[in-house]
Amino acid sequence: MSARIIDGKAIAAGLRGAVAAETRRLTAAHDLVPGLAVVLIGDNSASQSYVRAKSRAVAEVGMRPFDYHLPAETTEADLLALVQKLNADPAVHGILVQLPLPPQIEAARVICSVDPQKDVDGFHPLNAGRLASGLPALAPCTPLGCIRLAKTVHASLAGLDALVIGRSNIVGKPLAQLLLAENATVTVAHSRTRDLAAHCRRGDLLFAAIGRPEFVRGDWIKPGATVIDVGINRIGDNGKSRIVGDVNFAEAVKTAGAITPVPGGVGPMTIACLLVNTLRAACMQAQLPAPEV
Ligand code: NAP
Repeated sequence: MSARIIDGKAIAAGLRGAVAAETRRLTAAHDLVPGLAVVLIGDNSASQSYVRAKSRAVAEVGMRPFDYHLPAETTEADLLALVQKLNADPAVHGILVQLPLPPQIEAARVICSVDPQKDVDGFHPLNAGRLASGLPALAPCTPLGCIRLAKTVHASLAGLDALVIGRSNIVGKPLAQLLLAENATVTVAHSRTRDLAAHCRRGDLLFAAIGRPEFVRGDWIKPGATVIDVGINRIGDNGKSRIVGDVNFAEAVKTAGAITPVPGGVGPMTIACLLVNTLRAACMQAQLPAPEV
């Protein structure tokens, strides 16, 4: 048996369409054009291509992009001053500072400087705390995308055994909180976990956010499980390079019930969820009800 492939690209396109429709409605009814500021520092080529994709997506759904590309030698003080300016600008509803930052800038300080209401990355400790407390919060985009993908397979995640491999602030921890909010039974595994394969075999839902190419093997997966692969790893292959996930797809597809491909799974959902967060942030700041997307 071969698993159903969860087409993140198509699901993300549908979500972007819904965001565009809601943006048109907001603009017509309330003269509100959501604005997203994206700040890139330096010349990291992966970051440059993410930022280009984000800016293109923002413009395509009818939002207003504000793009800032600063040199690699930008000081922390200069970056903090830019964030303060964006915090105070009423046309900017969301602020995203692309990570990683150059070594002279402390990421935690920058994350904390973003107005929590404009924190569309959901990395500010206030939003992380609100999420963990079950209060409305701007949550990180990649975990939000993972939940949406899992829900294309399961109408409800309630009562399902979910294993999250990885405990980063960006993916693993917020994903665990979102799964708890969906009433799943959640286990979070990490590099110190003993017998990871045994934990995997119990998971109705398996989320891999490790950063190790093809690490999760097919025989670790519970037959019929839903596998959401967050990993993005570039590997050499016969003199060329290609992107693979954290799950050995060729093996897993034989055991899983449904699985995301890499690329074309979680990646496109991250940007679509950034647009949803920007819409939510704009509504929050305009004291309008949360958008229905
Ligand atoms: P990270 O901060 O490096 O965290 C990796 C996590 O994996 C850590 O919690 C680590 O455990 C755990 N880990 C490492 N080796 C392990 C092992 N042998 N067994 C079990 N757990 C292990 O990475 P991240 O930022 O969360 O990203 C994870 C992956 O997702 C990367 O490939 C990244 O490129 C990708 N990603 C994709 C998107 C997207 O849009 N698709 C977005 C963000 C990230 P410890 O905590 O014990 O060290």
